[in-house]
Amino acid sequence: MKSSTKDTESILTREETRTGLGPETLKRAILNHLFYNQGKFPEIATRNDYYMAMSFAVRDRLLQRWVASVKKYLNADQKIVSYLSAEYLLGPHLANNLINLGIYENMEKASNSLGMNLDWLIAKEQEPGLGNGGLGRLAACYMDSLATLEIPAIGYGIRYQFGIFEQDIKDGWQIEDTDNWLRRGNPWEIAKRELGYDVKLGGYVQHYTDINGKFKANWIPGMIVKGIAYDTPILGYRVNTCNTLRLWKSEAPKSFDFQTFNQGLYSGAVSDKTVCENISKVLYPNDEQREGKILRLQQQYFFVSCSLQDMIAIHLSQGGKIERFYDKFVVQLNDTHPAIGVAEMMRLLVDVYEVEWDLAWDITKKSFAYTNHTLLPEALETWDQDLFQSVLPRHLEIIQEINRRFLDEVTIRTYGDQDLISSLSIISDGPWKKIRMANLACAGSFAINGVAALHSELLKKTVLKDWYQLWPEKFSNKTNGVTPRRWMVLSNPKLSSLISSKIGEGWIKNLDELTGLEQYADDPSFQQEWMVVKHEMKKDLAKRILQRTKIKVDPSSIFDVHVKRIHEYKRQHLNILHVIALYNRIKQNPDAEVVPRTFIFAGKAAPGYHLAKLMIKLITSVADVVNQDPIVKDRIKVVFYPNYNVTNAQRIYPAADVSEQISTAGKEASGTGNMKLSMNGALTIGTLDGANVEIRDCVGAENFFLFGLTEEEVQQKKSEGYNPFDYYMANPELKLAIDQINSGYFSHMNGSVFKDLINSLLYHDQYLVLADFESYVAEQERVAEAYKDKQRWAKMSILNAARMGKFSSDRSIKDYCDDIWKVGPSPVELVDFHQKTQ
Ligand SMILES: *Cc1c(COP(=O)(O)O)cnc(C)c1O
Repeated sequence: MKSSTKDTESILTREETRTGLGPETLKRAILNHLFYNQGKFPEIATRNDYYMAMSFAVRDRLLQRWVASVKKYLNADQKIVSYLSAEYLLGPHLANNLINLGIYENMEKASNSLGMNLDWLIAKEQEPGLGNGGLGRLAACYMDSLATLEIPAIGYGIRYQFGIFEQDIKDGWQIEDTDNWLRRGNPWEIAKRELGYDVKLGGYVQHYTDINGKFKANWIPGMIVKGIAYDTPILGYRVNTCNTLRLWKSEAPKSFDFQTFNQGLYSGAVSDKTVCENISKVLYPNDEQREGKILRLQQQYFFVSCSLQDMIAIHLSQGGKIERFYDKFVVQLNDTHPAIGVAEMMRLLVDVYEVEWDLAWDITKKSFAYTNHTLLPEALETWDQDLFQSVLPRHLEIIQEINRRFLDEVTIRTYGDQDLISSLSIISDGPWKKIRMANLACAGSFAINGVAALHSELLKKTVLKDWYQLWPEKFSNKTNGVTPRRWMVLSNPKLSSLISSKIGEGWIKNLDELTGLEQYADDPSFQQEWMVVKHEMKKDLAKRILQRTKIKVDPSSIFDVHVKRIHEYKRQHLNILHVIALYNRIKQNPDAEVVPRTFIFAGKAAPGYHLAKLMIKLITSVADVVNQDPIVKDRIKVVFYPNYNVTNAQRIYPAADVSEQISTAGKEASGTGNMKLSMNGALTIGTLDGANVEIRDCVGAENFFLFGLTEEEVQQKKSEGYNPFDYYMANPELKLAIDQINSGYFSHMNGSVFKDLINSLLYHDQYLVLADFESYVAEQERVAEAYKDKQRWAKMSILNAARMGKFSSDRSIKDYCDDIWKVGPSPVELVDFHQKTQ
């Protein structure tokens, strides 16, 4: 043989040639895909072509592991976790997969040798924004941890054609733009065109007695849509387990068996293409706010029905008995969005598989577990019964029957306690009957959990109190977590390397090992290295801020970061009131010593949430004034970084010095941004809310800036008749800040712009912004004071990261596995697929 490539090839096995992980093999794979997939060659290929080719090359390597995983799961006796979530806020795949495969460096070499910069290609990816915020991001972290822990799992959801809108800022106001993420194709998904299920909607129910004298229901739909499976492989970190995220796209059915339906209804049932495709068209952009629209209910039912039909098909295809469904699958409901699954499971069992009602209910209750995510009343899902009936007439009957039998049971257990009966009822009484999805979820599940210790306790005392009283054994807490792969290794490579240089790489899979850093917390040279890395990340972010907003910020100022969805309970207005107070201190005393600070805000507001949008306008308006004022001399800067998404979050968290977690105590179920920030060495200023409580316990009270009313004090104050106006009158700094906003100081002397926000603060203030103002400002002074002492700050920052082991999503998933799912790891061996199939 003459050529050296041939020599190399003859040494490599076929497997290595095709899906090997070395730089040469990767390079060849990219060129192959460039040629055979993109139809391009290097001279004419664009960066996007290279991104696509590289992604396909990576996907090949995932598929090799995916096939091995799926084969293993198809073995009987292998219980599978089924995670049902209407949202997955995944973030870009490419770099994450490179890390999990362990080929980041090799791919860098491969792309360099092709004259490409890996960072450019990574930046080409349009992130799949199939979620609003924390809830969707949690589902994504859990998919990563399930695979990393080698747990057999399928994530089910919706393949929205348009994800969360892209946010732009014009004139200081939020502008929404559609997120056409699929425009350039999606190399990470595999369409299973042959894998689809019909889903009925609308119509009515016919009742009849069959030849055996059995009472039967026949649902005649108003329309039928088809769900097509789109699979995304989710690879674990340095393991062969590659699980499936199966997202359903709605389409018009091509044809269907008309025997099933009355001839006359045929044309009505085959609905037109656009109506069917609308169901998976767009994600509802509300976070912690329900949208009682027909399309939303259709979306929920659509994906849940496809998913349950799919699980049953898998189970039966392996020779499983329908009665033992729960031996094959445990179905976790991520909030109430998929709670209709309880009624759908009953319909499938009773109407389709002809299982007796009592047995069907028993199977259902053994299959489902429910995670509650909110205590906010406006976020608890209910559906008007009439609307519900128009979409799901058969399910209404089923829910009525579930409820009738369920309330009989409650009546017996409580000796007919009417208050308890009406609070547990799945259908509210009164003239406007509503279907309460949390009640359906609780009744149909064997386990119910909250997402942080405080939240789980409050559930038992408030929204689910009566459920807890009767079924305490169903309740547990599963504190949220986040994946250190994406939120440390990927987004903060420098800090990760520094950590690994001291304690090895074990922490990436076992985050508790971070405690090994504690011994270096006082070491001046380690502190120095730690703060150098932080400074580098701040410089990177400063560059982005300049590019995106034209605002020049100083990387040696405190980066005070408040990034999350914009919501009154998250209290971005409390933060901006503090900014205004600081600004006024400088104006009143230009030589005042003020530790330089950059206030960085980011987050989307639901398009219909007027006060949230007004908060964005207020932040950008204050920024315009403060950033320009020569008296301030750049000591404080305010930035609103547009379009908060996973990609931007990955840039912001590592650069944060201060993490703003200032929700009204008792309102934030857990939070996960708080965890991501602390892991990256930010110090929290926060209330005793959600997981803040546990974070503070872990990192130590001395490494956490606490302020504000506790949940109990909030309740106390409200019951005493809280009057925000008193606080306004009593605190001159607060009064001045509010008066300035009101007078138009920040809005070209047009004070009316913010009147709704001001009125809500002065006369309602249900989130106790004014009550917490003084305590917040005082604590912020301690933050500034602490920052002046570089060594002390470095130590606190190191200790924060070192003590965050508990908040890995690996720990959360282990807890779910042990306590709820009863599923353990099932390692996958990599088979030499090509040689075996030759
Ligand atoms: C983590 C994360 C969230 C949740 O943030 P919280 O501070 O917990 O509300 C929302 N959006 C994105 C993009 C995230 O990465």
